[in-house]
Amino acid sequence: MKTVTLPDGTAVPALGMGTWMMGEARGARAEELATLRRGLELGLTLIDTAEMYGEGASERLVGEAIAGRRDEVFLVSKVYPHNATRARTIAACERSLTRLGTDRLDLYLLHWRGSVPFAETIEAFETLKRDGKIRRWGVSNLDLVDMAELSTTPGGEGVGTDQVLYNLSRRGIEWDLLPWAKARGLPIMAYSPIEQGRLLADRELARLAAAHGWTAAQLALAWVLDRDRVIAIPKTGHRARLEENAAALDVRLTPEIRAALDALFPPPRGSTPLEML
Ligand code: NDP
Repeated sequence: MKTVTLPDGTAVPALGMGTWMMGEARGARAEELATLRRGLELGLTLIDTAEMYGEGASERLVGEAIAGRRDEVFLVSKVYPHNATRARTIAACERSLTRLGTDRLDLYLLHWRGSVPFAETIEAFETLKRDGKIRRWGVSNLDLVDMAELSTTPGGEGVGTDQVLYNLSRRGIEWDLLPWAKARGLPIMAYSPIEQGRLLADRELARLAAAHGWTAAQLALAWVLDRDRVIAIPKTGHRARLEENAAALDVRLTPEIRAALDALFPPPRGSTPLEML
Protein backbone atom coordinates (compact mmCIF):
# COMPACT_ATOMS: atom_id res chain seq x y z
CA MET A 1 0.00 0.00 0.00
CA LYS A 2 1.31 3.43 -0.90
CA THR A 3 1.44 5.58 2.21
CA VAL A 4 1.50 9.30 2.95
CA THR A 5 3.42 10.61 5.93
CA LEU A 6 1.73 13.08 8.26
CA PRO A 7 3.70 15.96 9.80
CA ASP A 8 4.20 13.93 13.01
CA GLY A 9 5.81 11.08 11.05
CA THR A 10 2.80 8.73 11.04
CA ALA A 11 2.33 6.88 7.76
CA VAL A 12 -1.27 6.44 6.59
CA PRO A 13 -2.65 4.67 3.51
CA ALA A 14 -2.81 6.93 0.45
CA LEU A 15 -6.13 5.30 -0.46
CA GLY A 16 -8.83 5.34 2.18
CA MET A 17 -12.61 5.15 2.30
CA GLY A 18 -15.14 8.00 2.40
CA THR A 19 -18.52 7.45 4.02
CA TRP A 20 -20.74 10.42 3.18
CA MET A 21 -24.33 9.22 2.48
CA MET A 22 -23.63 5.85 4.06
CA GLY A 23 -25.60 4.40 6.97
CA GLU A 24 -28.74 6.24 5.92
CA ALA A 25 -30.75 3.61 4.00
CA ARG A 26 -31.75 0.51 5.92
CA GLY A 27 -31.80 -1.67 2.81
CA ALA A 28 -28.23 -0.72 1.92
CA ARG A 29 -26.73 -1.33 5.37
CA ALA A 30 -25.56 -4.95 5.00
CA GLU A 31 -23.73 -4.24 1.74
CA GLU A 32 -22.24 -1.03 3.15
CA LEU A 33 -20.89 -2.86 6.19
CA ALA A 34 -19.51 -5.64 3.99
CA THR A 35 -17.90 -3.00 1.76
CA LEU A 36 -16.15 -1.21 4.62
CA ARG A 37 -14.92 -4.54 6.03
CA ARG A 38 -13.66 -5.63 2.61
CA GLY A 39 -11.85 -2.31 2.36
CA LEU A 40 -10.06 -3.01 5.64
CA GLU A 41 -9.03 -6.44 4.32
CA LEU A 42 -7.57 -4.75 1.24
CA GLY A 43 -5.58 -2.28 3.34
CA LEU A 44 -7.85 0.76 2.91
CA THR A 45 -7.68 1.28 6.64
CA LEU A 46 -8.15 5.05 6.66
CA ILE A 47 -11.87 5.80 7.12
CA ASP A 48 -13.31 9.30 6.77
CA THR A 49 -16.58 10.28 8.43
CA ALA A 50 -18.16 13.33 10.09
CA GLU A 51 -20.78 14.19 12.67
CA MET A 52 -22.66 15.85 9.78
CA TYR A 53 -23.01 12.70 7.67
CA GLY A 54 -26.57 11.52 8.20
CA GLU A 55 -26.43 13.40 11.53
CA GLY A 56 -24.42 10.58 13.05
CA ALA A 57 -25.67 7.71 10.86
CA SER A 58 -22.35 7.39 9.03
CA GLU A 59 -20.38 7.33 12.30
CA ARG A 60 -22.70 4.64 13.69
CA LEU A 61 -22.20 2.51 10.57
CA VAL A 62 -18.42 2.95 10.73
CA GLY A 63 -18.50 2.03 14.43
CA GLU A 64 -20.26 -1.21 13.57
CA ALA A 65 -17.90 -1.96 10.69
CA ILE A 66 -14.74 -1.53 12.77
CA ALA A 67 -16.00 -3.19 15.97
CA GLY A 68 -13.32 -5.58 17.20
CA ARG A 69 -10.68 -4.21 14.82
CA ARG A 70 -10.31 -0.60 15.94
CA ASP A 71 -6.53 -0.85 16.14
CA GLU A 72 -6.27 -1.57 12.39
CA VAL A 73 -8.03 1.65 11.50
CA PHE A 74 -6.94 5.26 11.07
CA LEU A 75 -10.18 6.98 11.98
CA VAL A 76 -11.00 10.50 10.77
CA SER A 77 -14.06 12.50 11.81
CA LYS A 78 -15.09 16.14 11.64
CA VAL A 79 -16.72 18.75 13.80
CA TYR A 80 -19.37 21.13 12.45
CA PRO A 81 -18.20 24.78 12.38
CA HIS A 82 -21.13 25.75 14.61
CA ASN A 83 -19.86 23.23 17.17
CA ALA A 84 -16.26 24.44 16.96
CA THR A 85 -16.23 26.50 20.16
CA ARG A 86 -14.04 25.51 23.12
CA ALA A 87 -16.79 23.66 24.97
CA ARG A 88 -18.91 22.43 22.07
CA THR A 89 -15.97 20.87 20.20
CA ILE A 90 -15.25 18.66 23.17
CA ALA A 91 -18.90 17.66 23.55
CA ALA A 92 -19.19 16.98 19.79
CA CYS A 93 -16.08 14.80 19.90
CA GLU A 94 -17.49 12.80 22.82
CA ARG A 95 -20.69 12.17 20.84
CA SER A 96 -18.68 11.07 17.79
CA LEU A 97 -16.61 8.69 19.93
CA THR A 98 -19.78 7.16 21.38
CA ARG A 99 -21.32 6.64 17.94
CA LEU A 100 -18.06 5.19 16.64
CA GLY A 101 -17.71 2.90 19.67
CA THR A 102 -14.15 3.98 20.34
CA ASP A 103 -12.14 5.98 22.86
CA ARG A 104 -10.11 8.04 20.38
CA LEU A 105 -9.99 9.51 16.88
CA ASP A 106 -6.78 9.40 14.89
CA LEU A 107 -7.58 12.70 13.21
CA TYR A 108 -10.27 15.27 14.00
CA LEU A 109 -11.03 17.97 11.43
CA LEU A 110 -12.80 21.31 11.46
CA HIS A 111 -15.28 20.58 8.63
CA TRP A 112 -15.17 24.10 7.18
CA ARG A 113 -14.51 27.57 8.49
CA GLY A 114 -17.37 29.18 10.39
CA SER A 115 -17.54 32.16 12.71
CA VAL A 116 -15.63 30.68 15.67
CA PRO A 117 -12.07 32.07 15.82
CA PHE A 118 -9.40 29.51 14.91
CA ALA A 119 -7.66 30.07 18.25
CA GLU A 120 -10.68 28.76 20.15
CA THR A 121 -11.05 25.61 18.05
CA ILE A 122 -7.31 24.93 18.25
CA GLU A 123 -7.49 25.21 22.03
CA ALA A 124 -10.30 22.63 22.10
CA PHE A 125 -8.38 20.31 19.74
CA GLU A 126 -5.27 20.58 21.91
CA THR A 127 -7.32 19.79 25.03
CA LEU A 128 -8.78 16.72 23.29
CA LYS A 129 -5.26 15.69 22.30
CA ARG A 130 -3.95 16.05 25.85
CA ASP A 131 -6.87 13.96 27.12
CA GLY A 132 -6.14 11.22 24.59
CA LYS A 133 -9.50 11.66 22.80
CA ILE A 134 -7.83 12.57 19.52
CA ARG A 135 -4.34 11.81 18.26
CA ARG A 136 -4.07 14.84 15.96
CA TRP A 137 -6.21 17.49 14.33
CA GLY A 138 -6.64 19.19 11.00
CA VAL A 139 -9.02 21.24 8.88
CA SER A 140 -11.15 20.92 5.78
CA ASN A 141 -12.24 23.25 2.97
CA LEU A 142 -9.70 25.93 3.90
CA ASP A 143 -8.25 27.91 1.01
CA LEU A 144 -4.73 29.31 1.04
CA VAL A 145 -5.54 32.59 2.79
CA ASP A 146 -7.33 30.74 5.58
CA MET A 147 -4.48 28.24 5.85
CA ALA A 148 -1.99 31.08 6.09
CA GLU A 149 -4.04 32.65 8.88
CA LEU A 150 -4.41 29.30 10.66
CA SER A 151 -0.71 28.57 10.51
CA THR A 152 0.13 31.87 12.20
CA THR A 153 -2.52 31.45 14.93
CA PRO A 154 -0.96 30.23 18.20
CA GLY A 155 -0.96 26.41 18.06
CA GLY A 156 -1.82 26.48 14.36
CA GLU A 157 1.46 24.85 13.42
CA GLY A 158 -0.07 21.64 14.82
CA VAL A 159 -2.41 21.24 11.82
CA GLY A 160 -2.13 17.74 10.31
CA THR A 161 -3.92 18.13 6.97
CA ASP A 162 -6.37 20.16 4.89
CA GLN A 163 -9.10 17.99 3.36
CA VAL A 164 -10.31 19.60 0.15
CA LEU A 165 -12.13 18.92 -3.12
CA TYR A 166 -9.55 17.61 -5.57
CA ASN A 167 -9.91 15.49 -8.67
CA LEU A 168 -9.17 15.63 -12.41
CA SER A 169 -11.97 18.11 -12.99
CA ARG A 170 -11.13 20.29 -9.95
CA ARG A 171 -7.45 21.10 -10.15
CA GLY A 172 -7.51 24.65 -8.82
CA ILE A 173 -5.43 23.85 -5.72
CA GLU A 174 -2.44 23.01 -7.91
CA TRP A 175 -1.93 26.74 -8.47
CA ASP A 176 -1.32 27.76 -4.86
CA LEU A 177 -2.66 25.61 -2.01
CA LEU A 178 -0.94 22.38 -3.05
CA PRO A 179 2.54 23.94 -3.50
CA TRP A 180 2.09 25.83 -0.21
CA ALA A 181 1.18 22.60 1.62
CA LYS A 182 4.00 20.70 -0.04
CA ALA A 183 6.55 23.29 1.04
CA ARG A 184 5.43 22.73 4.64
CA GLY A 185 5.29 18.95 4.45
CA LEU A 186 1.53 19.11 4.95
CA PRO A 187 -0.46 16.32 3.26
CA ILE A 188 -3.74 17.05 1.49
CA MET A 189 -6.76 14.75 1.65
CA ALA A 190 -8.60 14.74 -1.68
CA TYR A 191 -12.34 14.42 -1.22
CA SER A 192 -14.77 13.50 -4.01
CA PRO A 193 -11.81 12.07 -5.97
CA ILE A 194 -14.12 10.79 -8.71
CA GLU A 195 -16.31 13.93 -8.56
CA GLN A 196 -19.13 12.00 -6.87
CA GLY A 197 -19.23 9.65 -9.86
CA ARG A 198 -19.62 12.42 -12.47
CA LEU A 199 -16.11 11.89 -13.85
CA LEU A 200 -17.12 8.38 -14.86
CA ALA A 201 -19.49 9.82 -17.46
CA ASP A 202 -16.57 11.44 -19.29
CA ARG A 203 -16.22 9.51 -22.55
CA GLU A 204 -12.64 10.56 -23.24
CA LEU A 205 -11.53 9.51 -19.78
CA ALA A 206 -13.30 6.18 -20.18
CA ARG A 207 -11.71 5.68 -23.60
CA LEU A 208 -8.20 6.47 -22.33
CA ALA A 209 -8.69 4.14 -19.37
CA ALA A 210 -10.09 1.32 -21.50
CA ALA A 211 -7.14 1.57 -23.88
CA HIS A 212 -4.97 0.44 -20.97
CA GLY A 213 -7.40 -2.08 -19.53
CA TRP A 214 -8.58 0.13 -16.69
CA THR A 215 -11.91 1.65 -15.78
CA ALA A 216 -12.48 5.41 -15.65
CA ALA A 217 -12.74 5.22 -11.84
CA GLN A 218 -9.38 3.46 -11.64
CA LEU A 219 -7.67 5.99 -13.87
CA ALA A 220 -9.20 8.97 -12.02
CA LEU A 221 -8.10 7.54 -8.67
CA ALA A 222 -4.67 6.54 -9.96
CA TRP A 223 -4.17 10.15 -11.06
CA VAL A 224 -4.86 11.39 -7.52
CA LEU A 225 -2.64 8.68 -6.04
CA ASP A 226 0.13 9.67 -8.42
CA ARG A 227 0.36 13.08 -6.70
CA ASP A 228 2.87 13.65 -3.98
CA ARG A 229 1.49 13.68 -0.41
CA VAL A 230 -2.15 13.39 -1.41
CA ILE A 231 -4.58 10.96 0.21
CA ALA A 232 -7.69 9.92 -1.75
CA ILE A 233 -10.89 8.94 0.04
CA PRO A 234 -13.41 7.64 -2.52
CA LYS A 235 -16.76 6.48 -1.24
CA THR A 236 -18.70 3.44 -2.35
CA GLY A 237 -21.29 1.30 -0.69
CA HIS A 238 -20.67 -1.65 -3.01
CA ARG A 239 -18.03 -4.36 -2.62
CA ALA A 240 -17.47 -4.80 -6.36
CA ARG A 241 -16.79 -1.07 -6.81
CA LEU A 242 -14.58 -1.02 -3.73
CA GLU A 243 -12.46 -3.79 -5.25
CA GLU A 244 -12.40 -1.93 -8.57
CA ASN A 245 -11.28 1.27 -6.83
CA ALA A 246 -8.65 -0.51 -4.73
CA ALA A 247 -7.08 -1.86 -7.93
CA ALA A 248 -6.23 1.76 -8.80
CA LEU A 249 -3.25 1.22 -6.50
CA ASP A 250 -1.76 -1.07 -9.15
CA VAL A 251 -2.15 1.43 -11.98
CA ARG A 252 1.15 3.02 -13.00
CA LEU A 253 0.91 6.25 -14.95
CA THR A 254 3.43 6.92 -17.69
CA PRO A 255 4.47 10.43 -18.81
CA GLU A 256 2.29 9.89 -21.91
CA ILE A 257 -0.80 9.09 -19.86
CA ARG A 258 -0.16 12.06 -17.57
CA ALA A 259 0.12 14.30 -20.64
CA ALA A 260 -3.09 12.87 -22.11
CA LEU A 261 -4.90 13.56 -18.83
CA ASP A 262 -3.49 17.11 -18.73
CA ALA A 263 -4.89 17.65 -22.23
CA LEU A 264 -8.33 16.39 -21.19
CA PHE A 265 -8.33 18.11 -17.78
CA PRO A 266 -5.94 21.08 -17.97
CA PRO A 267 -4.14 22.27 -14.85
CA PRO A 268 -5.09 25.76 -13.60
CA ARG A 269 -3.69 28.84 -15.35
CA GLY A 270 -4.21 31.16 -12.46
CA SER A 271 -5.58 31.42 -8.98
CA THR A 272 -9.15 30.14 -8.50
CA PRO A 273 -11.14 30.17 -5.26
CA LEU A 274 -11.29 26.79 -3.58
CA GLU A 275 -14.45 24.95 -4.58
CA MET A 276 -16.49 23.00 -2.08
CA LEU A 277 -19.17 20.32 -2.35
P1 NDP B 1 -16.65 10.33 -4.59
O1 NDP B 1 -15.91 11.10 -5.63
O2 NDP B 1 -15.92 9.43 -3.71
O3 NDP B 1 -17.81 9.52 -5.36
C1 NDP B 1 -18.73 8.75 -4.67
C2 NDP B 1 -19.84 8.34 -5.66
O4 NDP B 1 -19.29 7.59 -6.72
C3 NDP B 1 -20.91 7.48 -5.04
O5 NDP B 1 -22.13 7.83 -5.62
C4 NDP B 1 -20.51 6.06 -5.43
O6 NDP B 1 -21.65 5.26 -5.57
C5 NDP B 1 -19.87 6.28 -6.78
N1 NDP B 1 -18.77 5.34 -7.05
C6 NDP B 1 -17.69 5.07 -6.29
N2 NDP B 1 -16.88 4.18 -6.90
C7 NDP B 1 -17.48 3.88 -8.08
C8 NDP B 1 -17.14 3.03 -9.15
N3 NDP B 1 -16.01 2.31 -9.15
N4 NDP B 1 -17.98 2.95 -10.21
C9 NDP B 1 -19.12 3.68 -10.25
N5 NDP B 1 -19.50 4.51 -9.26
C10 NDP B 1 -18.68 4.61 -8.18
O7 NDP B 1 -17.51 11.42 -3.79
P2 NDP B 1 -17.77 11.77 -2.28
O8 NDP B 1 -18.39 13.14 -2.30
O9 NDP B 1 -18.48 10.70 -1.56
O10 NDP B 1 -16.31 11.96 -1.66
C11 NDP B 1 -15.62 10.94 -1.00
C12 NDP B 1 -15.58 11.18 0.49
O11 NDP B 1 -14.92 12.40 0.81
C13 NDP B 1 -16.97 11.35 1.13
O12 NDP B 1 -17.67 10.14 1.22
C14 NDP B 1 -16.58 11.99 2.44
O13 NDP B 1 -16.07 11.02 3.33
C15 NDP B 1 -15.49 12.97 1.98
N6 NDP B 1 -16.04 14.30 1.65
C16 NDP B 1 -15.64 15.36 2.44
C17 NDP B 1 -16.13 16.62 2.22
C18 NDP B 1 -15.70 17.74 3.11
O14 NDP B 1 -16.32 18.81 3.06
N7 NDP B 1 -14.66 17.57 3.89
C19 NDP B 1 -17.09 16.91 1.12
C20 NDP B 1 -17.37 15.76 0.30
C21 NDP B 1 -16.85 14.51 0.57
P3 NDP B 1 -21.97 3.97 -4.65
O15 NDP B 1 -21.68 4.35 -3.24
O16 NDP B 1 -23.42 3.75 -4.93
O17 NDP B 1 -21.09 2.88 -5.16
